[in-house]
Amino acid sequence: MPIVRRKTRKVIVGDREHGFVGIGGDAPVALQTMTSTYTYDIDATVKQINALHQGGADMVRVAVPDKRDTVALKEILKQVRVPLIADVHFHYERALEAIEAGIHKIRLNPGNIKDRPKVEKVIAACRERKIPIRVGANEGGIVERQDKGQRAEEKSALEQDYQGQMTAIMVEKLEEYLRIFADSDFYDVVLSAKSVDPEIVLSAYRECSHRFDFPLHLGVTHAGPPETGRIRSVVALGALLAQGIGDTIRISYAADPIHEVEDGKELLQVLGLRLRTEPELIACPTCGRIEIDLISMMAEVRRRLKQIDVPVKVAVMGCVVNGPGEAEGSDVAVFAGKHKGVIYVSNNEGVAEQVATVPEAEILDRLFEEVHKFADRVRRGEARLKNQKVEIKPPDPIGELGSGWGKIKKDGIALPVMR
Ligand code: SF4
Repeated sequence: MPIVRRKTRKVIVGDREHGFVGIGGDAPVALQTMTSTYTYDIDATVKQINALHQGGADMVRVAVPDKRDTVALKEILKQVRVPLIADVHFHYERALEAIEAGIHKIRLNPGNIKDRPKVEKVIAACRERKIPIRVGANEGGIVERQDKGQRAEEKSALEQDYQGQMTAIMVEKLEEYLRIFADSDFYDVVLSAKSVDPEIVLSAYRECSHRFDFPLHLGVTHAGPPETGRIRSVVALGALLAQGIGDTIRISYAADPIHEVEDGKELLQVLGLRLRTEPELIACPTCGRIEIDLISMMAEVRRRLKQIDVPVKVAVMGCVVNGPGEAEGSDVAVFAGKHKGVIYVSNNEGVAEQVATVPEAEILDRLFEEVHKFADRVRRGEARLKNQKVEIKPPDPIGELGSGWGKIKKDGIALPVMR
């Protein structure tokens, strides 16, 4: 069953030179990441942005804590071909400078840029250049920082049912902040409500999805290194995406951001939300029935698949216990037997046909002969890879809004506005 995506408003990020990426509406879920370089180090930042774009990122965000970072943006933009987002905290002037430099999207943190006139200045500049703004609330920054009394009050409210209370605070703060946008009649907005706790991420985004029709940027913040952050991220983002919630994702790791792109891409591909562009390898976990050194064979298959530019699905199985039924989920499959391999290839009806039985020493070469033949058939339009289709359904009537909010219809979508 394809995932039915919840319909949201759509914002466009980019320009002719850097390409356009849609977020929300009928656009596919966009993959983004963030550089780990100092943005003022132009060469290092350009190198990383280009590697991330090459790796599959649809958009790349950069930090701009200082003026020297926004000054560098002009040169960086000349040397990359992917839309860029400026991550702005504390100083609204950085947003104005980034907009002036030609940035394609701004991220504002409601936790540290709160002053209405300042936010209005950023909104006005974005409106003039048709630049969307992400309002990005994070659990860590959402509870009052400066006012100790208010902070203590907000913290004490969290003692019981921490997750539920935190979700309520995050959504309430977002709603409060969005009034500035509604008053300015500015709706090119993307929302995020991140936490390190997957349970809060799930409840916060479900609540945002229920209340607002703005597209949602999903993420688990400071998830840790890939080894531990992977599960934390995938459990939350995977569950939301499978429910049709989420229009762009960023997986955050304490590591080279290329791993964020690799894992984000894989997550979208396994959910059928992004067309696979490279081969996929599936293999059995091995057990006491194994008839071959499958682990070494799989490593070699993986290495050779890097040369294939068609998203062929290849299965490597340690024995014939599940037979052709298992092979039907793949395009080309090998089942090991005693010192031999049985090779299956999917025919035009998607049914696995046995094409050869070869001695163990010849398995790899014969398998790749079939993989190349199958890839050629795909290129000639004679064989079809599995179709991936994503449905987008109109939104449910949006849920109860906070006091002072009403709903209007804009472009056919219910949109919360301040009464
Ligand atoms: S395919 Fe065979 S060897 Fe592999 S896990 Fe299944 S039963 Fe075990």
